[in-house]
Amino acid sequence: MSTIFTKIINREIKADIVYEDDNVLAFNDVNPQAPVHVLIIPKREIATLNDLTDADAEVVGKLHLVAAKIAREKGIAEDGYRVVMNCNEQGGQSVYHIHLHLMGGRQMSWPAG
Ligand code: AMP
Repeated sequence: MSTIFTKIINREIKADIVYEDDNVLAFNDVNPQAPVHVLIIPKREIATLNDLTDADAEVVGKLHLVAAKIAREKGIAEDGYRVVMNCNEQGGQSVYHIHLHLMGGRQMSWPAG
């Protein structure tokens, strides 16, 4: 089932887009948890990490390459940053279209709550 992220991909609702190619879109999180908080998503609708197949390996790798590229562009690559993908309820997932959170610009703590 489609989510709000499909509407962002299709430009039916606005987002602050920071990267786009044929398969991947990245945009600022509307409720940022850090000075840099970007969501990186495949354009293909994949609900959760559990739904990945071998055919998705390339795009999932690409999400990480785009995260590192955006981190460099935002000037946080050397200080460091966090990438997270939440899965299902106990993982804290709220939008069922997989997305990598790129967060940085402040000290992260571990373990995350
Ligand atoms: P998760 O809880 O891991 O599924 O993350 C979903 C993220 O999507 C949250 O950090 C929300 O703040 C973010 N989000 C929800 N709607 C939008 C939107 N329209 N534009 C940008 N970010 C959004």
